[in-house]
Amino acid sequence: MAFTRKVEDFDCVVCGAHNRGDGYTNHCSDCLCSRHVDVDPGDRAEDCAGVMRPVGVEVVRGSYVIVHRCERCGVVRRCKANARDDNDAIHEVMRTAAERALREGRRP
Ligand SMILES: [Zn+2]
Ligand SMILES: [Zn+2]
Repeated sequence: MAFTRKVEDFDCVVCGAHNRGDGYTNHCSDCLCSRHVDVDPGDRAEDCAGVMRPVGVEVVRGSYVIVHRCERCGVVRRCKANARDDNDAIHEVMRTAAERALREGRRP
């Protein structure tokens, strides 16, 4: 029946890549950054609108889950990676997070 899921294309505010929305995610598939616009996923009820930077990647049941932190208010959110997300970008985030953990004397 009616297709009610909200699908919005967007241009990434961080790297400028044009992304096709799928109604579920609003992170950029090139640089993995997102905007802090949701209280609950997809509701667009948050008015912070800060840039959510990827700060880590977790592997949950064989899928990647990107950990985002808002540059503006510091909130941390987890979001499943998309099939079309850039694998190099995901690996880069994992490497950066591991290096930071090592530097801080924690186990990655
Ligand atoms: Zn981007
Ligand atoms: Zn925020």
